[in-house]
Amino acid sequence: MRIIAALALAAAGSVSVSIAQSDDQALTVTAEQSGDGVVRLIVTTDHLSEATLTLTATLVNMDSSVKLPLVTELKGAGKRGLCVLTPHDRSTNWKYHYHYVWKYGTRGGVPDPDAVYRLPYPASEHHKLMQGHRGAFSHQAGSINENAYDFEMPIGNTVCASRGGVVIGVRQDSDVGGPSEAFNLSDNYVIIRHGDGTYAEYIHLRKRGALVALGDTVDAGQPIGLAGVTGHTTGPHVHFEVYRLTDQPGGVERESLSVKMLTKHGVCDELTEGIVY
Ligand SMILES: [Zn+2]
Repeated sequence: MRIIAALALAAAGSVSVSIAQSDDQALTVTAEQSGDGVVRLIVTTDHLSEATLTLTATLVNMDSSVKLPLVTELKGAGKRGLCVLTPHDRSTNWKYHYHYVWKYGTRGGVPDPDAVYRLPYPASEHHKLMQGHRGAFSHQAGSINENAYDFEMPIGNTVCASRGGVVIGVRQDSDVGGPSEAFNLSDNYVIIRHGDGTYAEYIHLRKRGALVALGDTVDAGQPIGLAGVTGHTTGPHVHFEVYRLTDQPGGVERESLSVKMLTKHGVCDELTEGIVY
């Protein structure tokens, strides 16, 4: 799962900023405060090609240069300003508190109902589905992962694209993982945008286990990574999931999508946990 939230606080007079954020430094929002109390919130994107950011703030005696919450779609690496916060009345205290979440991808995807996905490994191999749709470990109904699949796979096994597209997210610097949610943001991954604006994520890859780079165009069946055990996981496997981003009352959210998959049993609407495919 790729949902990263961070939060920062600062108060006039103290200028102390505490930030809780993820290991994943693909996107960060920081505050640059000048002596006259003016604060610039800056987003920096590192190994990132496509993301949607939602920024909210609680302001006391401060005005924002843009309406908040701010939803903005970011493309490419770089550093850019999001908003400027200015004290309203300098004769009394002011403070601000900001919070942001971001997700890989942009809104507008319309799933192609005729799309058929391959299994995310070489056609000559067969692997057990450890966890299916609405699985009890981490794909619960109502969660953002409810239509994901986890395929058991030895470390180093080749992971292949289930559908062709463009690589928009790659991480391969992590070397840690385990069954605790403390490892939620420690996973390596490859994320691919499909022609219909949906996205597939391939997660838990091993360190330096990406076989593609940002911006690469890949075909269905093409090797894209090497399986591993990074992130929140009980053992080596690949987490495969298709999603799109949509506007929801609470902000931009991921919608986990159920897709048709081609298996040795033919095209399946849904795979069954515990079965080898
Ligand atoms: Zn999973």
